Amino acid sequence: MAATTPGLVCAHHHLYSALARGMPAPPKTPTTFREILEQIWWRLDTALDLDMIRWSAMLGALEALEAGTTGIIDHHESPEAIEGSLSVIADACAEVGVRVLPAYGITDRHGPDGARRGLEENERFIKERGRGLVGIHAAFTCTDETLQAAAGLAEDLGVGVHVHVAEGVDDADAPQRLEGLTRDDWLLIHCVHLPTDHTLRGTIVHNPRSNLNNAVGYADPARFSNPVALGTDGIGADMIEAFRLAYVMQRSVGVTCGPDTAWEWLATGWDLMPEARDDEVTWSYEPMDPWYLAFTAGVRPLEVRVAGEVVFSDGEPTRVDVAEVRAKAREQATRLHARL
Ligand SMILES: [Zn+2]
Repeated sequence: MAATTPGLVCAHHHLYSALARGMPAPPKTPTTFREILEQIWWRLDTALDLDMIRWSAMLGALEALEAGTTGIIDHHESPEAIEGSLSVIADACAEVGVRVLPAYGITDRHGPDGARRGLEENERFIKERGRGLVGIHAAFTCTDETLQAAAGLAEDLGVGVHVHVAEGVDDADAPQRLEGLTRDDWLLIHCVHLPTDHTLRGTIVHNPRSNLNNAVGYADPARFSNPVALGTDGIGADMIEAFRLAYVMQRSVGVTCGPDTAWEWLATGWDLMPEARDDEVTWSYEPMDPWYLAFTAGVRPLEVRVAGEVVFSDGEPTRVDVAEVRAKAREQATRLHARL
């Protein structure tokens, strides 16, 4: 038995984090979300160069296809390798056959020059390639001037903004900092600590596995009137798994809810990347129905077509050699881990 769906969309990914798995333990065990950023992610992103970015994106794109995901909305940061980084990611995804909508997450953590160079990378990429978002790391690591510059650039280019919002308590003032800047084409990531009666516009992207892993709390996205989509926050691109977790987390605070709501959140991905509707995934299981999938583990794609081309079949990608991608990614991971 098999059923087909369009290609799935991961509405928030960090392809650069594909090489993080197995990294050495940080010098000090993080005890808060802020310390997880400082001890893990901000040390890792600073150590990235363009070769590492290329192979992390190749590996992330490969693992997306292995999960039936053909569209990735990526949020990237590499403060020591900013210029050209979004093109490296886009080219790697194109090589594997996965669609990507990249953004460079600008921040003032590395001074105003770092923020300016990040903004320029967003502008360069979107002008050259035509399809992308303007990225902001989060309000709490940016000055008001930087937030305004990013919102202004996005408006000038006619694209949305991709920004983490109130993931942890450190960013609880994000609704005030971003007030008046957001528009309907913004992606507001996490929103765990965002008040229900906030005034921000845009799609809220819920990342259940990441929120559990970082112990930041439950976003309870059903409480918002904004559209809601699902992401992985860099832990792979298995969107059926993300749906299953989103459902069971919702269930953990309200035992009467069914899986239809989480399934609608998954489907919102097609509003964000409509081109993924042109893709077709043939699955190992039928029916691809939320009431079945919420309780069925191990569903996998048999074949993936992107814009009519078979890019995955018989458990393997057709355009790249899976063993080579994993070997090169492992080499780059070893280089990266040695720098930490
Ligand atoms: Zn994120």
